[in-house]
Amino acid sequence: MRAYTTAHLAFDLPEGHPFPLYKYGGVAEALKGLLPILPAPEVPREALFMAHDPVYLERLFGEGLSRQEVLRLGLPFSPGLLRRALHAAGGTVAAAEDALTLGLGLNLAGGTHHAFPDRAEGYSLFNDVAVAVAWLRARGFVGRVLVVDLDAHQGNGTAVFFQNDPSVFTLSLHGERNYPLKKEQSDLDVGLPDGTEDTLYLRALEEALERAQAFRPALVFYNAGVDVLRGDRFGRLALSLEGVRQRDRAVFRWVRRLGAPLVVVMGGGYNRDPRLTVAAHAETYRLALSSLA
Ligand SMILES: [Zn+2]
Repeated sequence: MRAYTTAHLAFDLPEGHPFPLYKYGGVAEALKGLLPILPAPEVPREALFMAHDPVYLERLFGEGLSRQEVLRLGLPFSPGLLRRALHAAGGTVAAAEDALTLGLGLNLAGGTHHAFPDRAEGYSLFNDVAVAVAWLRARGFVGRVLVVDLDAHQGNGTAVFFQNDPSVFTLSLHGERNYPLKKEQSDLDVGLPDGTEDTLYLRALEEALERAQAFRPALVFYNAGVDVLRGDRFGRLALSLEGVRQRDRAVFRWVRRLGAPLVVVMGGGYNRDPRLTVAAHAETYRLALSSLA
């Protein structure tokens, strides 16, 4: 087992910007010694073109994003940002290949589920999961794919990527009043009220997994965003750290029973206490290893 990191790839952010660049290094550091942590490879350019609109990609690699697009992305566009996004998506592609060969693939980045086929949004330039699925398809993988998106925000981009693809089931469990204001339609959306705590959350998760079970996926992607924690700057749910542990355990137990390979991507996490964000993310990967490796 191994994990991929983008911790070595920083980019310029204005002072006080809420993007949590610190967490990528923090999580890699916290997992040191548990498994090999490799620099995420750059995503194959052709994989991007299999998933995303070529006009969008040409613009990204050429003139860059317009001011309006930058506003929607929420990050200043720079060569460093693009480079890091290429490796974050590459980490998910590599982790997906690991999942098919080793049973478990881990990317200590990715989960950029707000990227649409033809546009960037919400810190997401590339939809790494959609890119990885397109890549595996091109390499001959025909099995059904389930995306379990437990980030506090709806996986709106992912929903659109796969809305006409019956071979991919998208499940999003999120805060109903959280960004994005306008939700897209996943195969299964569960919108939770503000302030949802552990018990209600875990019950909703159990029901959702039960419904997804009928799809009988041959591969599962798990967006393990920890912005479900109480005290998140952008999330409106209120899970405890123990609640997040139970969430992850529930997913890993369910995947093990299913017998399907799993890819874990990081997703969001913007807690007012940065140590909590790092601790929660690191714990997800530790639990994945102890439950599935
Ligand atoms: Zn999120």
